Amino acid sequence: MEPKENSQENFSNSAGRTTSDRGPYTGKSAAGATPQKRFLVRRRKVCKFCQEKTDYIDYKDVRLLQQFIPERGKILPRRLSGTCQRHQIMLAEAIKRARHIAFIPYTMD
Ligand SMILES: [Zn+2]
Repeated sequence: MEPKENSQENFSNSAGRTTSDRGPYTGKSAAGATPQKRFLVRRRKVCKFCQEKTDYIDYKDVRLLQQFIPERGKILPRRLSGTCQRHQIMLAEAIKRARHIAFIPYTMD
């Protein structure tokens, strides 16, 4: 006959149960309607061309066009520049013309 020790079994029994299945965070999240303040570009949302009552954007005015062309060479989107749709279209047209005659580059790469 051999003496069996049951102390190990006792120990594992007491430590086996954990309460990990009940976390503080329940799966339901609050609706994502919380308005977070996004980082805005310093430009104000006023159409620069409307302010100056521009009816035609000159494609030869490279200095003007370059304000709307960041380093990458792409046209600055309306949501960043604040340009109204009418003038954004005119601006895009002017930029495309200026590119065509190599006043400004297509890309910087
Ligand atoms: Zn405008």
